[in-house]
Order: sequence, then C-alpha cells, then structure tokens
Amino acid sequence: MNELEDRFGRRFSYLRLSLTEACNYRCSYCLPDGYDGPSRGFLTRPEIGRVLRAFVDLGMTKLRLTGGEPSLRRDLIEIIDDAANLDGIRKIAMTTNGVVLERKVSAWRDAGLTALNVSLDSLDPDRFAAVTGFDHHTSLLRGIDQALTLGFDSVKLNAVLLRGVNDDELDGWLDYVRVRALSMRFIELMRTGDNADYFAAHHLPASTVAAQLLARGWTRVARAPDAGPAIEYAHPDYRGKIGLIAPYAPNFCASCNRLRVTARGDLRLCLFGEFGVPLRGLLQDDADGETLRARIAQQLGLKAAGHDLHRGNPGMTPHLASVGG
Ligand code: SAM
Repeated sequence: MNELEDRFGRRFSYLRLSLTEACNYRCSYCLPDGYDGPSRGFLTRPEIGRVLRAFVDLGMTKLRLTGGEPSLRRDLIEIIDDAANLDGIRKIAMTTNGVVLERKVSAWRDAGLTALNVSLDSLDPDRFAAVTGFDHHTSLLRGIDQALTLGFDSVKLNAVLLRGVNDDELDGWLDYVRVRALSMRFIELMRTGDNADYFAAHHLPASTVAAQLLARGWTRVARAPDAGPAIEYAHPDYRGKIGLIAPYAPNFCASCNRLRVTARGDLRLCLFGEFGVPLRGLLQDDADGETLRARIAQQLGLKAAGHDLHRGNPGMTPHLASVGG
C-alpha cells in the first residue's frame, strides 16, 4: 500500500538515496574544484537497510542509488544486494559517472541492479574531458556497450545541455542511438547555490532540443506512471530514444513522484527545498521502525507544490553532489 501521498494528490513510490557526497569528477557546473569534503560519516549499510525497509513499508517500489559518486562506496555491491533482497522493491537503479563502469557493471547487474544511468556530457572525448576533468571516454563507451548486453531493464545516458559547450551534438547523438537500445537524455542545466555565473553563461532551455527533434520527425512518447522526470521522444528508424529533462518547464513538479534521502540520512522533500528532515537518529535500532515511518509520512505533509528555481532560488542545495542528483 502506498502511504506516501501528499496534499496535492502526488504519490511517492520512488526514492533516490545518496550513498556519498564525494565525487571523483570535477564537472564545471557541479564541483569545478573537485570534492574536498569529508570522505567518511555517510550512512552505514545497516542504516541504509533500515531506511529502505521503512520506505518499502510505506509503498516505495523504485530505488535509485546516487551521490556524489555511488561507485566510490566500497560496499556498493553489498548495498545493491541488500536492496535486491527486500520484498517490495521492483526496480533498483543507479546513476554513475561510469569511471569504473567497464570493470564493475557486470558485478552490479549480478548483485541485482536493474537499471543504469550513466552521465556522458559529450560524445567528443576532448569536450568530455574539459567538462568533467576526467579522460576515460573510450572506456566509458565500452562500458556502456557492455551494459547493453547484460539485460538491464533500462540503460540511460545523461548529458547536461550546455550552451556553447555541447549544444551542437544532437545529430551525433541521433547516430549513436540509431543502433543502441538506450535512452539518451539532455538535462537542462539547473542553477544551484554555487554555480550562478556558470548558469548565466551556459543555461539553455531543453525546448530548443525538442524543436529540433520534432523537425527531424521524432515524436513524443507517453510517460509511464513510475517514470522519472524525462519527456521522451522516439522515431521508428532508431532503436534508442531521446529524453528531455526540463525542470524550468511549467508543471514540471506536478508529476513529481520522488523523495530523497541524503548520504547523511536527511529526508529531502525536494531537490531544491529549504530544509532537510534528520532521520539518522531513528536508523540506529530496528525498534524505531514505526517512529521512522511516522516521521517520513508526517513530513510529506510539508512538501511544497513546486520548486522556486524560476525565481533564482535553489533552496539549500549548493551543488547536486551534496543531495544526490
Ligand atoms: N556521480 C553520479 C553521476 O555523475 O551521474 C551521480 C550524481 S550526479 C549529481 C547526477 C547527475 O546530475 C549527473 O548526470 C550530473 O551531470 C547531473 N548534474 C549535476 N549538477 C547539475 C546541474 N547543476 N544541472 C543539471 N544537472 C546536473
């Protein structure tokens, strides 16, 4: 039963759990100087087990592991395995930068991961290295092709759409998805607490890509009930799809079905909310399960109708690595 319904009638069957705030990339829009915070103090495996149990009991069916970079967790395989052994979770997805994709993707799949999202901001190796500070493009592409052979329910790629950096790559991406059964998505750059100047220089509405897709004969696909925030487009001559994630579009929040828990155990009702609700004190003992569930359900009453990004207010989020993108 889903007890996670808010006062606007939205249901929350999808949890995004951050496993760490640390990341090894230096994305120019997120952590341009690299992560320099603590590498310890994040939720432990037993704490993660309790938070997941509580969300499953409340009706969560889809889990996404994110960060920071989740593959920096040494116990990642065990965390996936624990989640896969919880009755009630139907989908276990993970968002990763793919630094270890080629080496680890098979083990992640064997442990029970059912869906994979890989960040890939450019098909051009030099541009990719300039944006992320990492030079492993070839291995990343090999890892993605390997993932496509492993029977995941879905493989998705994320590129943040950046004016003057990668906004001329649509035709390259269309070639790429012609033969690959994956969904490539452009994410509109979001303004966070730390990236105001970068945002001003590089933000481009995803609607510009929508117009190009429609002009090339692509059509919009209906959204599945537990889908993420992307609006997807398809074309009969292509195996893959193109998705657009446009958080500044009107009504973006009306279909929100996601809650977040940070790597330090705070419930975040919105990626761009003004407050976090500490859950960690209730994650130390199985006996606190009922109180934990009550706290989560009660806090949902405070979820706002929408974020305030259009007015330039990113809430308390300095960068997405701090919450889990
Ligand atoms: N480290 C993992 C990765 O690289 O995918 C997971 C965390 S990362 C914060 C999740 C996604 O958020 C990535 O696709 C990243 O490109 C995207 N992202 C980060 N900052 C963003 C911003 N300001 N606007 C839009 N997308 C952003």
